[in-house]
Amino acid sequence: MIMKKLPGEPYLAYQNGELCLESARLSELARTHGTPLFVYSQAAMLGALAAYQRGFAGRQVQICYAMKANPALGVIALFAQAGCGFDVVSGGDLDRVLAAGGEAKKVIFSGVGKTRSEMRQGLQAGIGCFNVESEAELDVLSEVACSLGLRAPVSIRVNPNVDPQTHPYISTGLKDNKFGIAHERVLPTYVHAAALPGIRVVGIDCHIGSQITQAEPYLEAMDRMLDLVDAVEAAGISIEHLDFGGGLGIDYNGDTPPDAGQLWAALLAKLDARGFGQRQLMIEPGRSLVGNAGVCVTEVLYLKPGEQKNFCIVDAAMNDLPRPAMYQAYHQIVPLQPRADATQVWEVVGPICESGDWLGHDRALAPRQGDLLAVLSAGAYCMSMASNYNSRGRAPEVLVDGAQSHLIRRRETIAEQMQQEQLPGH
Ligand SMILES: *Cc1c(COP(=O)(O)O)cnc(C)c1O
Repeated sequence: MIMKKLPGEPYLAYQNGELCLESARLSELARTHGTPLFVYSQAAMLGALAAYQRGFAGRQVQICYAMKANPALGVIALFAQAGCGFDVVSGGDLDRVLAAGGEAKKVIFSGVGKTRSEMRQGLQAGIGCFNVESEAELDVLSEVACSLGLRAPVSIRVNPNVDPQTHPYISTGLKDNKFGIAHERVLPTYVHAAALPGIRVVGIDCHIGSQITQAEPYLEAMDRMLDLVDAVEAAGISIEHLDFGGGLGIDYNGDTPPDAGQLWAALLAKLDARGFGQRQLMIEPGRSLVGNAGVCVTEVLYLKPGEQKNFCIVDAAMNDLPRPAMYQAYHQIVPLQPRADATQVWEVVGPICESGDWLGHDRALAPRQGDLLAVLSAGAYCMSMASNYNSRGRAPEVLVDGAQSHLIRRRETIAEQMQQEQLPGH
C-alpha cells in the first residue's frame, strides 16, 4: 500500500505495520490511556529546536518558545532545560513558565491587551521584556512600573504592513490587523517611550503571522524593521536587541516551508549586509517547534455510509482539534494499523452537535468500527485551543522519549469541569 510522506517523519513512522512515535506504539498508548489522546515526541521537539540553534551558530540569540502553541508544563520544562526563553501572552502563561522551571529573565510578554495586573506580575517576576503593541499601553506600563519603583524593559512591536501570504486569521503584520504599532508611528513612539519615567527601551520586534511557508515576507519585514532601527538610533535611542517573532510554517499536507536553518541563513546574510549581524537577536517560534511533534489518536465509533457522503464518526472532535472548524485547516488522518487500500472517501467528523465539527473532508480511508486513526501535525494550536464544548473533558497528553512514555496531563473529568460552578442560592 502506497503512503504519502508523513509530516513528523522520521520521528513518526510505520514500524512492522504499526504507526509509532519514536519507539512507542501509538495503539498501545491508546489502550493504556484511552482516546482521544495527544502524543508528543520529545526528540521531534528538540530536533526542531536544534534546526534553529544550527541556523544561529556563532550568533548571540535568545530563542523564546511561543508557548501558546502548546503550553503543557511538560513541554515548557523540556524547552526550559534546553535553554529556551518563552514568549508569553498572559499572566497565566507566565505562571506556567515559572511553574515548569523557566527563567523569568528569559521571558518576553506579547499581546495587545495586557492588563495592569498582568504588567505588575511581569514586573515583579523580573521578566526580560514587554513587547508593547500600542502607545496607550506604553503609558499605562510606565505608570504601573513607577508605582512599583521599577522601570519596565520594553520593545516596540512594529506592524511592518507585510503580507505573509497565509490564512487571514493568522496574518498579523498587515495595516488592518490589530497587532503592533504602524510603521510611521514607530519613531515618535520610541521618542515618547524614552522620555517616560517607568520605561527602559531595550529592543524592537515584529511578528507578521503564522504558518508562513516562504522566506520573502520575512526578508521584507526585516528590511522595514532595520530601517526603523536606523531611524530610532539616529534619534539617540539605542536598541539592544532585534526580535523577529515567530511564524515559520510546517508541513501539514505537502507544504514546503524553508527549513529553520535555511531561512535563518538567508535572514542572517541580510542582517550582516546591513551591519546588524553582531546584535543580540531574539526569535519567538511556536508552531515550528511543536506542530509536527504531535498526533491525536482517535477511535472510529461508527460508520455511516450515505448517498451523498460517507461519514466516519470518531471520538475526537472540534473541541479537541479546533483548527479545521476555525481555519478550514488540513490535518492528515491516517490509520494506526493500515490493512487495506482505501476504496472510498470519507467525511471524518466528531460527535459534537455542529455541522462545523469535522476533522477532514473527502479522506481516502478504509475504516472499520473500532479502528484507531491518528490526526497528524497536532502538536501546535490543538490542545492549547481545546474547550469543554458539549461537556467534553479535555484529552490526556503523553510525552514520548524513545521507548519511554510519560503521561504529562491526565484526562479531565466531569467533576473537574463542574468544580467552579454552583447552583444559585448556595
Ligand atoms: C503566536 C505568536 C508567535 C508564534 O507564532 P508561530 O506561528 O506559532 O511560530 C510568536 N510571537 C507572537 C507575538 C505571537 O503572537
